[in-house]
Amino acid sequence: MRQSRLFTKTLKESPSDEQALNAQLLIRAGYIHKEMAGAYMLLPLGLRVVEKIKTIVREEMDKIGGQEFITTSMQKKELWEKTGRWSDDIVDVWFKSKLKAGGEIGFAWSHEEPIANMMKNHISSYKDLPIFVYQFQNKLRNELRAKSGIMRGREFIMKDMYSFTDTKEQHDTFYESSKEAYMKVFERLGIANDTYITYAAGGAFTEFSHEFQTLCNAGEDMIYLNKEKGIAINEEILTDDVLKEMYVTKDELELVPTAEVGNIFNFGRSKAEEVGLFYNNADGKKEAVWMGSYGIGITRLMGVLVEKFSDKDGIIWPKNVAPYSVHLIAIGDTTDKANELYKKLQNNNIDTLYDDRDARPGQKFADSDLIGIPTRVVISSKSIEAGGVEIKERAKKEAQIITEEKLFTMLNK
Ligand code: ATP
Ligand code: MG
Repeated sequence: MRQSRLFTKTLKESPSDEQALNAQLLIRAGYIHKEMAGAYMLLPLGLRVVEKIKTIVREEMDKIGGQEFITTSMQKKELWEKTGRWSDDIVDVWFKSKLKAGGEIGFAWSHEEPIANMMKNHISSYKDLPIFVYQFQNKLRNELRAKSGIMRGREFIMKDMYSFTDTKEQHDTFYESSKEAYMKVFERLGIANDTYITYAAGGAFTEFSHEFQTLCNAGEDMIYLNKEKGIAINEEILTDDVLKEMYVTKDELELVPTAEVGNIFNFGRSKAEEVGLFYNNADGKKEAVWMGSYGIGITRLMGVLVEKFSDKDGIIWPKNVAPYSVHLIAIGDTTDKANELYKKLQNNNIDTLYDDRDARPGQKFADSDLIGIPTRVVISSKSIEAGGVEIKERAKKEAQIITEEKLFTMLNK
């Protein structure tokens, strides 16, 4: 991508109404546009990052048997009434609307009810099970406060998976495998060491649930943590009994801020009973399906990555999610050489943002730091004289001059 043609430019300042660091940096660097509080457009750079996060999640969900599909954002009131979740007193984030033709609909904040209901058309026998489906979808939630940038949207992208199994063993096995898949995702995003699985208060509608909490100063949750012992307890559920069960005392724990990046719910058979989702077992007996649901906040993750991986100059993307792998910067009268190198990078399938703009070096370097591509390659008369190009990792201070040949061995690794 030639930067002279890139739609978006960087901004000197972030909008005055944006308080969250993640959104400030993402707006200034041209990744997102703030439409209103809690609603952000994904611009080309932002979409590239989101697609990379989705690819990682998709691969891990497919590995545990997930099949991707997509559902509607409009939902039937009657379905949620059946399970007692239509009421605003029970679910306080509903967006609802009236149809001109009469009747009321809800906008998807989650999908357990419609998907379980849909499955009635596809599940009748134990032979139809198990089924694991997932989607990436924009969820709409009427959040009271939306001050954490893309970490808390009123419209945001979630990956939500749903499991339908016929035996408790299969159900439990899948629930456990989802935990492993989630940790694999966080590992690939570079945050596994800072992410803890906590037991969560499931509320009235789940048997139990687990949260994935990532250490993050801008997070809205708090956990009690003992790093050495690997013990993490949600602030919400800390009681004397819980402490006893975990063999720790409160003064061994430190209260730290975290962001909930994922949440998995075990419904047992209760959800299927409520919705009326049954199957015939091998003996021809009617039984309720075992169900679980499994969420990951895709755009929240993007925000968490920015919060964790940035400095005063801008973003420092982990390699696996960066919008481009290399930021090629041409300085001074080096256009022919730089064009040549850009072509070579393309031929080697190395995703490159090429700063071919007619701009001052200081401007180019500042923009490069702000955008946060992991590897910067500078071609200047100085580097050419020294026999090559200058290479610098965004996360590091030192730069070195290497030959083009060495550059490609390094990048192709
Ligand atoms: P929170 O406690 O932060 O409000 P939640 O528990 O209501 O979140 P879930 O229903 O568990 O959210 O949704 C699954 C995942 O979706 C969460 O773990 C989180 O990563 C993400 N998520 C939830 N709400 C939002 C939001 N408003 N903006 C961005 N991501 C969100
Ligand atoms: Mg949750």
